[in-house]
Amino acid sequence: MDLITLYKKESEISGLTALITAIISGVAQGALLGIIVTAASTATHKSLNFRYFLMFAITFAIVIIGKRHALKQAMIIAEEIVKKIRIRIGDKIRNTDLLFLENTGREDIFTRIAQDTSQISEAAILIINAWQSAIVLVFSIFFLAMLSKPAFVITLIAIAIAVALYLSHQKSIAEELVETTKKETRFFEMLNQIIDGFKELRINQKKNDHHFRYFEKTAIRASDLKIKTGFKFITLVMSSQVFFYTLLGIIIFILPRLGHISGELVIRVTAVILFIIGPVNLMVTAIPIFARANNAIRNLYILEERLDKASNNFNPEHKSPITKIANFNELRFESISFSYTDRNGTPLFTVGPLDLTITRGEILFIVGGNGSGKTTLLKLLTGLYYPISGTLGVDDLTISTPFYPAYRELFSIIFNEFYLFDRLYGLDTIDEEKVGELLKLMILENKTELVGDAFSNIQLSTGQRKRLAMIVALLDNKQIYVFDEWAADQDPIFRKYFYEVLLKDLKAQGKTVIAVSHDDRYFHYADRVLKMEFGKFVERI
Ligand code: ADP
Repeated sequence: MDLITLYKKESEISGLTALITAIISGVAQGALLGIIVTAASTATHKSLNFRYFLMFAITFAIVIIGKRHALKQAMIIAEEIVKKIRIRIGDKIRNTDLLFLENTGREDIFTRIAQDTSQISEAAILIINAWQSAIVLVFSIFFLAMLSKPAFVITLIAIAIAVALYLSHQKSIAEELVETTKKETRFFEMLNQIIDGFKELRINQKKNDHHFRYFEKTAIRASDLKIKTGFKFITLVMSSQVFFYTLLGIIIFILPRLGHISGELVIRVTAVILFIIGPVNLMVTAIPIFARANNAIRNLYILEERLDKASNNFNPEHKSPITKIANFNELRFESISFSYTDRNGTPLFTVGPLDLTITRGEILFIVGGNGSGKTTLLKLLTGLYYPISGTLGVDDLTISTPFYPAYRELFSIIFNEFYLFDRLYGLDTIDEEKVGELLKLMILENKTELVGDAFSNIQLSTGQRKRLAMIVALLDNKQIYVFDEWAADQDPIFRKYFYEVLLKDLKAQGKTVIAVSHDDRYFHYADRVLKMEFGKFVERI
C-alpha cells in the first residue's frame, strides 16, 4: 500500500508505539467481546458479578486509552509527513527551472499541495482504526472458531468473497480516481479563469455565459465521475453488509436445522458476528479513503519527480563553488542559443546563436519587434534560462551550471511581467531614510510607506507598481540592472527621468544597465543599441 511506503520513506517518528497500542486496544476490544458474551450467559438478577464487572471496566479502559494514544500518534506522524512534503515541494519549486514553471499549470501544483496532502492526513487516522478493527476481527474470528466450527468456516468464506469482490474492483476504481483528479484539476483551472479573467468576462455577458457553460460542464464531469466511483464504493460497502446478514441468516435459520449448532450457541455466535460487523464496516468504508490517499500520494510523487527532472541543474548537495562574483569587467555570450520546444522536443522558437560582450559600466539597449526574442535574451542573460549550446563567461570564468546561482546574484531585474512583493526581502539592513527619499523621487510618498520592512500598500497603477519595483531594485544594489520596457508604462516626465537621470546615475555608480526599449527618442543615451529579429542580432538601421 502506498500509505505504508509513504510512511517508511518520509516519517522520522516511529509508528511502532501507535501500532502496538492499537494492537493492545484491538486485543482488549476482542477480549471485551469474550467478557460480554460470557458475563451475559452467567447473568442473574440476584447479584452483580464483580469479577466480570471489573474485567469489563479494565478492558474497556484499555480499549479507550490505547486507541486514543494510537490515533493521536498517527495524527502527529501524518501531519509531520504532510508538513515535510509541503515544505520540500515548496523548496523544489523555488529551485526549479523557470521554463518548467512557465509550462506547468499552477492548478496542478495547488491541487497537489492543498488537496492531496489533506487526503493523506485523513487516511492516517483511518489506518489506525482499520488496523485496530483488523485485530478485533482476528480475535473475534478466533473466538468464533472456539464456539462453533461450522459458523467459523461460513464466516471465513463470507470474508474471502468480500475481499475477492474488492480486489476485482480495485483496478478500475484506481483508474477512475486518476481520471477524477484530472477533472478536478481542470475544474480549478476554469475557476482560476473566472477570477483572473474577471474583467474580460464581466464586460461581455455572452462571453461570460459561454465560459460559464464550459465551467459548468467541467464541474458536472468531475461530479459525474466522482459519483460513478462513489457508487462502486457504496456497492462494496453494501455487499459487505449483505454478506454479513446472509451469514447471520444462515447461522440462525439453517445451521440449527442441520443440527450443527444448539439454540443457546446460536445466540452466542450471533453476538460474536454482530460484534464483527462494526470493525468490518469500518474497514470497508475506509477503503475509498485509502484509495484516494494512495492516488494522492502517487500524484504528489509524480509532481515531485517532474520537479526533480526539471531541476536537473539543481542539486542541494552540490553547493555552488562560489557564492558571489564580487566584480566583473566583461560578460560574454559565445555562440549561445536557446529553443522553446513543444512536448515532442520540436523547436518552436530559437534564440541565437548569439555572440555578445557586455562591459562593466555600459548602458546597452535592446530593441526589436514584438516576439523577436528580447525577453528570452534577458532571461538567458540573467541566468534564468540555461542555454542549449554555447558558452557564458564572466571575465576568465566559464559559467557552467554550478556557477549559475552565483552568476544570477549579479542582477537586479524588472521584467515586463514582474511580481511586486509587499515586503523588502533579502536586505541585511534597510536604510529607511533612503527608502523615504526614493518614494518621494518616484512620487509614491502619498501612496505607500514603509512600515517595518513592508510596504503599507501595493494596490497601485501599473506605472506606479513599476516605480515601486524600481525602488526595490535600487535597494538591492546589484552590479547589473536589467529593465524590460520599464519606461513604457510611465508618463513623459518619468520616462525622461528614467533615460536622462536614472540611467546616468547608475552608470556613474559603476553599474551596468541592459534595457529593452522602444523609445527611439532616447536611444542616444545608450552606449550601444542592439536590434533583434527572429531571435538574432541584426545590424541597426
Ligand atoms: P519579445 O520580448 O521580443 O517580445 P519574447 O522573448 O517574449 O519576445 O518571445 C519570443 C518568442 O518566443 C515568441 O514567439 C513567443 O511566442 C515565444 N515564447 C516565449 N515564451 C515562451 C514559452 N514559455 N514557451 C514557448 N514559446 C515561448
